[in-house]
Amino acid sequence: SGRWIKAMEIVKQFEEKCGTPISKLRQVADAMTVEMHAGLASEGGSKLKMLISYVDNLPTGNEKGLFYALDLGGTNFRVLRVQLGGKDSGIVNQQFEEVSIPPSLMTGTSDALFDYIAAELAKFVSREGTDFQLTPGRQRELGFTFSFPVMQSSIASGTLLRWTKGFSIDETVGQDVVAELTKAMERQGLDMRVSALVNDTVGTLAGGRYTNNDVIAAVILGTGSNAAYVERAQAIPKWHGLLPKSGQMVINMEWGNFRSSHLPLTEYDHALDAESLNPGEQIYEKVISGMYLGEIVRRVLCRMAEEAAFFGDTVPPKLKVPFVLRTPVMSAMHQDTSPDLKIVANKLKDILEISNTFLKMRKVIVELCDIVARRGARLSAAGILGILKKMGRDTIKEGEKQRTVIAMDGGLYEHYTEYRKSLENSLNELLGEEVSETIVVEHSNDGSGIGAALLAASHSQYL
Ligand code: ADP
Ligand code: MG
Repeated sequence: SGRWIKAMEIVKQFEEKCGTPISKLRQVADAMTVEMHAGLASEGGSKLKMLISYVDNLPTGNEKGLFYALDLGGTNFRVLRVQLGGKDSGIVNQQFEEVSIPPSLMTGTSDALFDYIAAELAKFVSREGTDFQLTPGRQRELGFTFSFPVMQSSIASGTLLRWTKGFSIDETVGQDVVAELTKAMERQGLDMRVSALVNDTVGTLAGGRYTNNDVIAAVILGTGSNAAYVERAQAIPKWHGLLPKSGQMVINMEWGNFRSSHLPLTEYDHALDAESLNPGEQIYEKVISGMYLGEIVRRVLCRMAEEAAFFGDTVPPKLKVPFVLRTPVMSAMHQDTSPDLKIVANKLKDILEISNTFLKMRKVIVELCDIVARRGARLSAAGILGILKKMGRDTIKEGEKQRTVIAMDGGLYEHYTEYRKSLENSLNELLGEEVSETIVVEHSNDGSGIGAALLAASHSQYL
């Protein structure tokens, strides 16, 4: 029918605009490398902030004692404690809890958010058992994983540049987030010192390095997306401090804010951005990360409903609600292997209140999910190639047996198998067979929390 033809035209046009041939991915990777140089050259030199983390040494394995970590960066936050055994003993004991953040706190006041976090942390500390041992006479110390762009002034201080991922609390911007947390802990009567403030990418890098010496970069694909890597201190022109003894500095790229004319953006992406809490910002994040993939699919479906009556004469009201179609639902539909696509049918019914679908329609919906996930996965592979190029690890040097490990974490990478497979395939395709064998993407489960605790240990006030 005319309607069906019109709907298929919308899908086809969208697919064409989302195209990521290898040549385009190479352009994106090159643009990433160029922006990395520019961001390192001067403050404000690029959309990529290339933030200095003040982490110039990664964990060695000698860290010892009881340390806490708090990980705030998305819809959930985690608290954890680890007992580190020191040389050759590794992690003797660990415990963690995950608490969801009431959405109202994400756009409320600074005190309300930090009070809530500090209260949950205090409860967790009060449940510390005898299988954890604080060295007598010491204050408890915490690594604070805070996964938003922060301009650090030391390992344990830094001001918030802006919120991302659906958080929006104006009064926090420009404030030292360690001071905010410390004040909230005091209000709770919790005696604890923040010894390290780290981005989740930096924490993941530290946690990865603790168990594998070849880890040189970390990438997060969760609600948002970001990356960190180890840079030569001499290759950071904007760094005017003393050169660290190690000669190295971990850089938090804030790659979510990358943008380039080579990114295949569609009208749906532009509309999503314009209506977001942070228009014009985090453009790369908005095409690759978990917060947005389902929303992009919803927008295309909505257009098909409005202009091609894809779901019948009226547009299903639920389909008009921003962010109703979450990425976990999208991935469940995408990966539905039942012959009649029962999962797709059920999700459409339960979440969008659409019950009149036939198999051919459900197949189109799976196809849409595939287009959006594949574009995101392939573009994140291009970003990784950009980092490898900057580090000179995208080629094999004569006579060197170099191994490169990228620590990867985040719910999107962890749970969205099709996305992960597409990312890995594209990276292999970009690198070629020989180089691919030297590069490993390793899932580092909750490495960021443990990494933050490790960095708190290596920056303890008692050292
Ligand atoms: P955060 O990034 O908020 O710190 P996570 O790393 O746990 O937390 O990532 C959570 C995100 O991962 C969710 O917002 C969602 O976008 C994505 N995600 C979680 N589960 C799935 C799933 N089953 N399929 C696809 N994406 C998922
Ligand atoms: Mg996280």
